[in-house]
Amino acid sequence: MSTIDDLPPLRQVIADHELRARKSLGQNFLLDLNLTAKIARQAGDLSRVDVLEVGPGPGGLTRGLLSEGARKVLAIEKDARCLPALAEIAARYPGQLEVIEGDALDIDPLAHLTPPIRVAANLPYNVGTELLVRWLTPPTWPPFWQSLTLMFQREVAERIVAQPGSKTYGRLAVLAQWRTDARIAMSLPPEAFTPAPKVSSAVVHLTALPAPRFEANAQVLSRVVAMAFNQRRKMLRAALKGLVPGIEDRLIAAGIKPTDRAEQLSIEAFCALAREVKAAQG
Ligand code: SAM
Repeated sequence: MSTIDDLPPLRQVIADHELRARKSLGQNFLLDLNLTAKIARQAGDLSRVDVLEVGPGPGGLTRGLLSEGARKVLAIEKDARCLPALAEIAARYPGQLEVIEGDALDIDPLAHLTPPIRVAANLPYNVGTELLVRWLTPPTWPPFWQSLTLMFQREVAERIVAQPGSKTYGRLAVLAQWRTDARIAMSLPPEAFTPAPKVSSAVVHLTALPAPRFEANAQVLSRVVAMAFNQRRKMLRAALKGLVPGIEDRLIAAGIKPTDRAEQLSIEAFCALAREVKAAQG
């Protein structure tokens, strides 16, 4: 393993600070700095960008982001044991790394960042999907971030980029692809992590589109999609029963067969339905 900076190798950092991984915090660390630099490069040119990183842990990806030239990294870490290791990185990159101890679900990072902002993280599996959904459903669009470069379990990554007709197509795919370009940028085997998880992982790169692909009210679309996929095996006329009066007519008006199932519907069709539902709600 080569180094990308003059800080100690990550194995030594972990030994020095006794950072034994905790399952409850979703801790699977990346120790190969070549790999973390490669992940950082998936986020593009960072020289004029502030980066939000959730869960820096011992700082492998943080070091990758900084060595790749990030203007500033704001790192939010829940595990206080990691702070001394992160302080060593901050000392190596004066003024470029700010670390906040706390739960990323409770902290508003915007006070600490200057646009343009990108997000890059090897997310803790237990809060990864929740954070992604939050980032994808802000009150206004475009969001505070230009892009998200995120490590997920392979199965979650596939759900984000899934196409209609596939078993993995669902709420995450519609929410992500309605307003971003989403692709799998890298695949990683379990052995890339310490300790090795049971499953493979993948880095997903999502770029925010300036405007949604198709017109729809975000809240209505979210509700329609959640309801439709909540009972994904049912026909839409049954799955969406009670959403608005006369749902069958609304489906037909949106150009959708009431006997179709959610997984057959394109994002364009979901948006057409959301517009019909909104009109019905008055
Ligand atoms: N970025 C490091 C790496 O790639 O080696 C660590 C990744 S590890 C999968 C996830 C990290 O997120 C851990 O350091 C864990 O302590 C932290 N974490 C877990 N839950 C968190 C939360 N709610 N807010 C902030 N950090 C959290």
